[in-house]
Amino acid sequence: MATHELAAYRNKRRYAASGEPRGVQRRSKGSLKFVVQKHSSAHLHYDFRLEADGVLKSWAIPKGPSLDPSQQRLAIRVEDHPYDYRNFEGTIPEGHYGAGDVIVWDRGSYRQVPDGSEEAVLKGLRKGALSIELNGKRLRGLFSLVRLKPSRQWLLTKTRDAYASTRDITRISTSVRSGKRLRIRQR
Ligand code: MN
Repeated sequence: MATHELAAYRNKRRYAASGEPRGVQRRSKGSLKFVVQKHSSAHLHYDFRLEADGVLKSWAIPKGPSLDPSQQRLAIRVEDHPYDYRNFEGTIPEGHYGAGDVIVWDRGSYRQVPDGSEEAVLKGLRKGALSIELNGKRLRGLFSLVRLKPSRQWLLTKTRDAYASTRDITRISTSVRSGKRLRIRQR
């Protein structure tokens, strides 16, 4: 059963020119990985991606993730991205889908709570309710992802724990991978 939809990803892109990975299904050795890319395209947003089933399950978060449990952040489910996309940063040229600059804003490992298995992640995605623990540089601790049925809209919310904070981490625009600063487009 093909639960991923890399076809949708591929149909939108011309890799040779955009610089983005074509990619295939692939699984991390060890813990499942997550990445958040900050993407300055027509609208600044954050791409939140969780590895599962050999691909990156993906959401676009217009306002970005928050460490404040009182802040529910709209997360729009988008097409699965290839596993190799987790390291992508650079400039998607004008005329291409998502034209603009991308940085790796955060990355690390994650686990489903309480079970910890990949199967439980996939089950949560189908059900529309997932509790996860992120072990990144900027995002740490427990978060919930809940789907507003029936739609592609989900809410990402920090769960109250030792990592909860009212500090606005979306003010940060440097890459955890390269240290590069994201150029915010003038519009
Ligand atoms: Mn994006």
